[in-house]
Amino acid sequence: MQTIKAAVCHAFGEPLVIEEVQLAAPRMGEVEVTLDAVAICHSDISFAEGAWGGFLPAVYGHEAAGIISHLGDGVSGFAVGDSVVVTLIRSCGNCPSCAGGKPTICETPYDPINDGPLKTADGGALMQAMTCGAFAEKVVVDQRQIVKIPDTLSKEAASLISCGVITGVGAAVNAGQLRAGQDVVVIGAGGVGLNAIQGARIAGARRIVAVDMSEEKLEIAKEFGATHGVLGTLKSPWTAAFKALGGKGADLVLVTVGAIPAYEQALRYLGYGGKVVMIGMPHSGQKATYEPVIMAAVGQGMIGSKMGDVVIQRDIPWMVDLYQQGRLKLDELISGRWSLEQINEAIADTKTGSAKRNVILFNR
Ligand SMILES: [Zn+2]
Ligand SMILES: [Zn+2]
Repeated sequence: MQTIKAAVCHAFGEPLVIEEVQLAAPRMGEVEVTLDAVAICHSDISFAEGAWGGFLPAVYGHEAAGIISHLGDGVSGFAVGDSVVVTLIRSCGNCPSCAGGKPTICETPYDPINDGPLKTADGGALMQAMTCGAFAEKVVVDQRQIVKIPDTLSKEAASLISCGVITGVGAAVNAGQLRAGQDVVVIGAGGVGLNAIQGARIAGARRIVAVDMSEEKLEIAKEFGATHGVLGTLKSPWTAAFKALGGKGADLVLVTVGAIPAYEQALRYLGYGGKVVMIGMPHSGQKATYEPVIMAAVGQGMIGSKMGDVVIQRDIPWMVDLYQQGRLKLDELISGRWSLEQINEAIADTKTGSAKRNVILFNR
């Protein structure tokens, strides 16, 4: 056990508390990563607000990058000193989902309280939320959760890849199976939405319509590849989207926000044979309604996608290449840089609805 500084959630809806916690050494197949950067994701905020319940106290944070500082037994392909991105995708490699190429929906349970590496300073239970716990100076995670990156890649840019970027780009490329020339509507131009837009651009979409409640975010969406912007505050924004798509519906609608109205309206944007990819995560218990008869009649579908259906060992290296070639925007996604001590201010800033990411930097 060693002592590190972490931002701990003791009560839902209350500010996180910066305090010392205990971190266990990496076990079989695990690595310790000393973090340089962790971005704040809306999922962290939803958890801290109690939207999905869960054990407390807990350490959130799951969009991280740093340098390997300790290897457990049985780790191969990594060395101390390697630069890596750290994801929340803890996969066993052997269950039907993992073996079938879908590690984002690994079926092997992991207990982040009793099996996790964290304890409070006095040895009490402390949850490693999202199997990551990256609002902390260091994390101990499974080797399958990390991917090696070039040392020259800035860690703040790299940290964004580990959740928002793979989720958005992966939703278009993997879950949506977007084919070059197809028309896309992206609902929500926030952190994940901008990446869904870049994913659609990279995959060769013909027209990309961004829908958002804010004019300012629609302008940012165009910088990331949206060809058209539609205000979600319109009475029937899907009519405007049809117009933008030359009088037809979309082949693919990517819902990147957790708001129920967005889910209820998503199908309205679809063309014949189109499909909705459900990415944004509403609070537990919230329900949406839709008319199944229309979907049956014109061959439409809905599919859920977690973390962009990525295989991080396959997908993160090509995203790094695209970034280095100037084809994937990362630096432009960052709106603010903060210290761990400022995390509550950074979270408050994220909640103002800014389109982009706030990043915590550890100056070590
Ligand atoms: Zn996230
Ligand atoms: Zn598995």
